[in-house]
Amino acid sequence: MEPPLLEAVALTKRYGEVDALTGVDLIVPAGQVLAVLGPNGAGKTTLIRSIATLTRPTSGLLNVAGIDVVAEPSRVRRVIGLAGQYAAVEPAMTGRENLRMVARLSGHGRRDARSAADAVLEQLDLAEVGDRLVRNYSGGMRRRLDLGSSLVGAPKVLLLDEPTTGLDPRSRNELWSAIRELVGRGTDVILTTQYLEEADRLADRIAIIDGGRVVAQGSPAELKGLAGEDVVEVRVRDDADAHRAAGVLGSHAILEPNGTGISLPATDGVQDLIRVIGVLQDAGIALADIGVRRPTLDDVFLALTGRPAATDVGVEAAA
Ligand code: ATP
Repeated sequence: MEPPLLEAVALTKRYGEVDALTGVDLIVPAGQVLAVLGPNGAGKTTLIRSIATLTRPTSGLLNVAGIDVVAEPSRVRRVIGLAGQYAAVEPAMTGRENLRMVARLSGHGRRDARSAADAVLEQLDLAEVGDRLVRNYSGGMRRRLDLGSSLVGAPKVLLLDEPTTGLDPRSRNELWSAIRELVGRGTDVILTTQYLEEADRLADRIAIIDGGRVVAQGSPAELKGLAGEDVVEVRVRDDADAHRAAGVLGSHAILEPNGTGISLPATDGVQDLIRVIGVLQDAGIALADIGVRRPTLDDVFLALTGRPAATDVGVEAAA
């Protein structure tokens, strides 16, 4: 049987006074995409840097693709590719030159480097701009090229540290499709992210980390299940009716702190919706909006860590 993609047991990392990882326990089978999700400072980068052999764990066990990261770092480096938070590409060279250089550095002969670079440009939809200087690339193109540099060595496991942080929504979508395509071709991926949507869209398994340890893990659906049931959300047309509406809807109805929205648990989505509309109509209360909301990863995150995750989409201009 293929060894697990990742196996961490009681993994810790201490930088001086700071405990960046405080006991990570995580086993993920091969053939999966793992998203490590957590707020700023949770320990995501430390975990990915440990897996990439760039930092040495303080204690515990860490294996990637069955190889012990501490005992055999050079074997680990042969099976992984890493793309970091900031695109590490040379702006004064073309995309193609960048990739050829990386391929040469990773031990390809001249001709192999050429074909590896061409193949990766094709794969990431960059062939057309391959001969343009990287300084004229958009932010999204640079990230894709950076992803490309981690692919020229045809890694078995690809490590991505916050691959889309700071990208505009369109570039983010393009990068997501590029990653999904790699996964489709059989590359295992471990990525870190602050974005719930990113984890939801890309991962088979999500590990939520906070304070340097895993606080929950599972498939996106399992994790959403942790946040409980569906909720009916109601907004009344006249704010002055909100209290009365909450009253007629029964003891499970919760009035939002801003006083205009009401939510109540839904055990039977559409039927609950119909019932709520009926009750409010009978009470003569006009509705502005109503809907059933399924739990999101954000609810899970909030329930587990006591604070919301970064859910906003970075819209910094693609530099
Ligand atoms: P972000 O989303 O901001 O990148 P993160 O989840 O990746 O955060 P880490 O970068 O792993 O978090 O940091 C975890 C903790 O370890 C933080 O408190 C950070 O300040 C600390 N830390 C990280 N690297 C070092 C270092 N080289 N020296 C000292 N402390 C560090």
